[in-house]
Amino acid sequence: MNAETISQLYRERFADRSLILVSNREPYIHRKTKHGIKVDTPAGGLTAALDPVMRAIRGTWIAWGSGSADKEVCDGNDKVMVPPDDPAYTLKRVWLDQKEVDGFYYGYANQALWPLSHMLIEKARFSMRHWQRYFEVNRKFADSIIPEIDNDRDVIWIQDYHFTVLPYMLRNRMSDLTISMFWHIPWPPWEIFRVIPQRQEILKGMLGCDLIAFHINRYCQNFLETVEQELDASVDRKENRITYNGRETRLIPLPISIDYDKFDQMTRRDKIQSKLTEIKRKLKIEDKYVGIGVDRLDYSKGIYERVQAIKLFLKKYPEYRERFTFIQIAVPSRTKIQEYSELKESIEKLIDEINREFSTDNWKPIIYYSTNVSHRELVNYYRIADMAIVSSIVDGMNLVAKEYIASQVDEKGVLILSEFVGAVAELDRAIIINPFDIEQFADMIKKGIEMPEAEKRRRMQKMRAYVQTHNIYDWINDNLKAVEKEIL
Ligand code: UDP
Repeated sequence: MNAETISQLYRERFADRSLILVSNREPYIHRKTKHGIKVDTPAGGLTAALDPVMRAIRGTWIAWGSGSADKEVCDGNDKVMVPPDDPAYTLKRVWLDQKEVDGFYYGYANQALWPLSHMLIEKARFSMRHWQRYFEVNRKFADSIIPEIDNDRDVIWIQDYHFTVLPYMLRNRMSDLTISMFWHIPWPPWEIFRVIPQRQEILKGMLGCDLIAFHINRYCQNFLETVEQELDASVDRKENRITYNGRETRLIPLPISIDYDKFDQMTRRDKIQSKLTEIKRKLKIEDKYVGIGVDRLDYSKGIYERVQAIKLFLKKYPEYRERFTFIQIAVPSRTKIQEYSELKESIEKLIDEINREFSTDNWKPIIYYSTNVSHRELVNYYRIADMAIVSSIVDGMNLVAKEYIASQVDEKGVLILSEFVGAVAELDRAIIINPFDIEQFADMIKKGIEMPEAEKRRRMQKMRAYVQTHNIYDWINDNLKAVEKEIL
């Protein structure tokens, strides 16, 4: 599947139905700078995965306008065509004031639902004020969506945990709409979900959907059990169906993926070799075995555990000192939340300690970047790296693992992958680790380095073939097929 086939399929299947995609984060952020207006693309799996889809289908994307120049570039209806260099679809922005951002985004979404869904109860904070703002912002989005609907045959595709009550709000206003939702993070077992004071409102809100997709079947099963325990609903676990208040909602597992060809092609571009040589020279890693980690700086990503394992690896296997360098790219994320700023500090402190303890005149064990690196630049690092480490303690899917694989055109890289990421079911040729078991983790770094070339290649070939044939366009095709089933 590719962009071409998707746009053709969409036209064939949904001829007179527009697609309206709704997410919190926008795919393009316009920012005022000294040198004029700049456009950023945010770090994060969701927008990276969905932008190629929208380019292909050319629908309307509705999201929070968070950039300092966002208003300036919009027309009177809060709309702008994107991507800026090759306009293909409409981005409609919803404006939120500081109180709304604090309560909806930093508050309820990211201090209650995010940690809880990642099964980290002790990190979850519940506040009535946050919930009220979250509810109001969901209503604000509903108000922005309604005028964009041409007729009640349109398809609304809602993304993620920021909008749990929005499906019900839309359903109430237009009962025949087709509403589909994709939940990008894990769905926890009921024993954990039940901690949420507003659990019933959330479930009732989501059951306004015709279809809810999760990455893997376990999350579907967790959702079914949660509904069974919390609501007076009829639940069919075999068919993944729920009937509540006379309406049916279907659940499906659909593991999200990446634009494989984009990564593959970027890594094969002209002059990349000289670029790689230049970076290696600059970082003084020409003769080193290089590892890489690329993450939003989030406690779910297991970055601290990864750095601990690297420390132990260097302690336990001194022969690798001066031979192994790890590059960690960690984009600051949600830094207004104390938990996140504290985590950033503790990771940076540990990296400093390691670098002080082990560095020599011509070697630094960990090179750390605390900045957002574009995909175009990221592929250089993916190419340079002999090994990628993805060590999340919980992760709905993890796209970095798939991007690393797509970038291994010479089929040599090794992927170390946590057993707690959604992607593990698909990428079983990776070296699988438990990020809480630091001893084993350190040993697996050694195993990865020492793995015979032929085996590295065999594993990488298998994983590349899988990601190539299960790419973002296959995912969207599966989503569309599932929506089509609802309509027919
Ligand atoms: N990313 C990026 N620049 C960075 C770091 C990350 O563009 O400096 C992207 C990365 O390439 C991937 C996404 O952010 O597409 C992270 O997605 P993932 O599913 O791994 O995690 P999430 O952040 O969505 O939890």
